[in-house]
Amino acid sequence: MKRYDVTALGEILIDELKTGNDTVSNVGGAPANFARVAARMGLKSSFIGAVGDDIRGRECILALVGDSVEPLCSVKRAATTIALVTLDGSGERDFRFVRGADAMLSEADVPVSAIASSGILHIGTLSLSAEPARSATLAALKAAKEAGVPVSCDVNYREALWPSSVAAREAALSVLPEVTYLKVSGGEAKLLVGAMPPEEAAEKLSLLGPKTVAVTLGAEGAVVCSGGRTVRTAAKPVRAVDTTGAGDSFWAAFLACMVRNGAEGELSPELAQKCAEAGAVAAAECVSRPGAL
Ligand code: ADP
Repeated sequence: MKRYDVTALGEILIDELKTGNDTVSNVGGAPANFARVAARMGLKSSFIGAVGDDIRGRECILALVGDSVEPLCSVKRAATTIALVTLDGSGERDFRFVRGADAMLSEADVPVSAIASSGILHIGTLSLSAEPARSATLAALKAAKEAGVPVSCDVNYREALWPSSVAAREAALSVLPEVTYLKVSGGEAKLLVGAMPPEEAAEKLSLLGPKTVAVTLGAEGAVVCSGGRTVRTAAKPVRAVDTTGAGDSFWAAFLACMVRNGAEGELSPELAQKCAEAGAVAAAECVSRPGAL
């Protein structure tokens, strides 16, 4: 019996969303959001990351605990990372980072036994953008491989944290052979395999390692390719208030559906459709309210 259904590793931080003269702060970081939504969907979840020895860091841990996520976190002599999020005229989000503790997660902080006792290890690629977090992420992937734990990855490309888009692309492509479940946005699919219809991109990505690939397309829904077959799901028609965390909610609900149905690796088209529907419902709930969850 595994201790956790999922263990997520990566950044936990404070999102500061600026709209007009207002700033709203929330605990964020894609893998942390993922772990919290997964727990809300009934999965036993834990989270590996690093926070600063400050009020923001304590807020981060409290948010995890409040959602019944076991915090397997290290506390660093650095400030908790902050993401400054602004919305442009069309509602698109722009990210700047005041990077601190999240990048300081080290190999020694990775609890190998917790990973070995997880049904799934979930990562993003933001933790691959700086050392020592990069080595910590690679150590976690190695631990998962050795224990036969499948890996889920949400690419979650943040331009501001990479020296170039080429470096981000190379980092993401380098881990794909270790990934069983992959989620990318339409823009990330383009970054990784070039401009093409999402169905084709999902198929192409699945040839690079992952057994199940979801390409999410915002209000246009999502495409899922698994076992060489592709399904498309519409988004739920809602009034979008704040799209922060939509992808994290989608993916946590998708994987929770998979786990509930006892599925692993390749999904039947029926199950892929059912899980993408579950993802769309959770994501619609997320975008229709302020905040990332
Ligand atoms: P990410 O947050 O990773 O960029 P997306 O923006 O593609 O991901 O959104 C993920 C999912 O969230 C979509 O597949 C869709 O189900 C839902 N979603 C996103 N934006 C909207 C929207 N405006 N209206 C309804 N659903 C949305």
